[in-house]
Amino acid sequence: MSKETLQFQAETKRLLDLVINSIYTNKEIFLRELISNASDAIDKLHFESLTNKEILEGEDEYEIFILPDKETKTLTISDNGIGMTRGEVISNIGTIAQSGTKAFLEKIKESEGKLDEELIGQFGVGFYSAFIVADEVEIITRKAGETAAVKWISDGAGEYTIEDCEKDSRGTMIVLHLKNEFVGGEEFDFTNTYTLENLVKKYSDYIRYPIKMNFEVKGKPEEEPTIEIRTINSMQPLWTRNKSDIKPEEYEEFFKHQFHEWENPMEIFHTKAEGTIEYTALLCIPKHAALNLYYSDYEAGLQLYSRHVFVMEKCKDFLPDYLRFVKGLVDSPDLPLNISRELLQQSREVKKIGKALEKNILKQLSKILSNDREHYEEFWNEYGKSLKIGVYNNAYDEKVKDDLKDLLMFETSTQEKLSTLAEYVSRMPETQTKIYTASGKDKETISQMPQMEILRERGIEVLYLLDPVDEFAVESLNKYADKEFQAVTREDFELDDEESKKTKNEVEELAKSHADLLKDVKEVLGGAVSEVRLTSHLKSGAVCLATGVNGPSLNMEKTFAAMNNPFFKAQRILEVNPNHALFKKLSGLHALGKDNDEFKNFCQLLYTQALLIEGIMPDNPVEVANKIADLMAK
Ligand code: ADP
Repeated sequence: MSKETLQFQAETKRLLDLVINSIYTNKEIFLRELISNASDAIDKLHFESLTNKEILEGEDEYEIFILPDKETKTLTISDNGIGMTRGEVISNIGTIAQSGTKAFLEKIKESEGKLDEELIGQFGVGFYSAFIVADEVEIITRKAGETAAVKWISDGAGEYTIEDCEKDSRGTMIVLHLKNEFVGGEEFDFTNTYTLENLVKKYSDYIRYPIKMNFEVKGKPEEEPTIEIRTINSMQPLWTRNKSDIKPEEYEEFFKHQFHEWENPMEIFHTKAEGTIEYTALLCIPKHAALNLYYSDYEAGLQLYSRHVFVMEKCKDFLPDYLRFVKGLVDSPDLPLNISRELLQQSREVKKIGKALEKNILKQLSKILSNDREHYEEFWNEYGKSLKIGVYNNAYDEKVKDDLKDLLMFETSTQEKLSTLAEYVSRMPETQTKIYTASGKDKETISQMPQMEILRERGIEVLYLLDPVDEFAVESLNKYADKEFQAVTREDFELDDEESKKTKNEVEELAKSHADLLKDVKEVLGGAVSEVRLTSHLKSGAVCLATGVNGPSLNMEKTFAAMNNPFFKAQRILEVNPNHALFKKLSGLHALGKDNDEFKNFCQLLYTQALLIEGIMPDNPVEVANKIADLMAK
């Protein structure tokens, strides 16, 4: 195909503008980024070769080569990895797909162009960082297994050209035409072998493939220097080093490089196990939850290595779904190199390692909870939902629930800060036998619920279930420390102090003498409610809705409806406060007969009020509004 001139995608252009106008204070990161891409490209080829040996064409000595040239003011980074086809160059290099880069552009947008140096330092912009130091970049690449090679050239200004070319070996060569200030300069000289060697050691030492460079070896003064090829990096993967020798910055750099993250992790776990099964795991919790963490396109899983050789990118079989946010890798000599996904799933070794990792992570989390509350709350705010979903999804697995229950946190009616269940229970007065819960969209809404008044008056703390998943999680737990959870909106809600028992008895007596009234209200409301009854736990409120002991609550019903599942309906029970003036009015109207229109309208409006308190629209809002208008006009 002949030479084409193409435009960068708009987002890429914007990014290139920023890079070229040198927002980066750290000029040297380009080398790390390009080496990292080269290493990824070799990983990809290696992975392919596990099932297709031919692709290597007999060349299985992987390497990354750095070639500085003062004369031509170029620096070339080449690899014998997978390479790219013409189409791949166009789609991979011309467009931005990486989430970190997208987030970077978002942040820039948020800060309205005012760039915080520190913010910038957190992001890597991958290949485009080449334009920090180069005013022209060439990519010469040949895909493994193909014969056609392409050459891509751009000055980063908005266009690039792409044309066919010759290339003897597979893989990619990136030729940087360095800006003058980076050749032989005082501050920077990216053609100097010593500088380059130090940079590789600093940023890319653990890259698993040899990073080679030509070194001049001076012999006797009268002799010409000879050239020797040396490997610069130790190639020792970070995770194989002694924990005590690894600096926090090294972990952080590694995490960002390895998992394409743009922020330092929130937490790092590095474990080595020897014994019946040997493995090393380096796991991290990213500072922020991925935006798609709870969507089906999120790919969880840990990288798998066997004897330091990369085997697989996302092995899902190590960690349970509720730890899907954990990133990291497992390296174990006990796992064969060319194991298929299917076999992995059944592998006893994977299960064993997974169990141990899960236990370890939970132990660490509970340590953080006891030793560094603030840090744990940061974790909780990002990933709490995941643990709660874990409880719900494992409703029948006592072991999982037991492991997770003490890591859960909730808002409550009496505390400013989050509480664990243990903390709630420790504050319970001796006479309180249940853990009271109330669900709603926020603290304010719940505190205004009519049922809350009496609890407030009695000084009883209520656990707030603000996240839709909370109610499901708590119901799945069923009990904590032998105390049952009791939703204040369920029909079996009762307070167990003496005073409450007494008023309850009185109300029951009253209900008996008003049995006809309650029956008739129910009849008027038709199928809308399963029961109408008097309640002893309303104070100033006239009515409220309770739901049956079993089945979804009203909030669960809303959650199901939001998930396009409108068939799970809560059983509605209308509760009426016999001490409210409206009850007397209701009794009075009832005396006119159950078919009396005024009585019927009154019943409808009582029910509508109970619905509105729950934030539920009545089915017939216009009719209801007209009835209110009539009543007001009287
Ligand atoms: P990232 O590496 O973070 O995905 P980059 O902008 O650095 O983002 O690279 C974009 C894509 O270009 C890579 O995902 C990869 O597909 C391709 N690429 C970059 N460098 C190489 C290389 N040396 N060999 C093969 N493909 C490469």
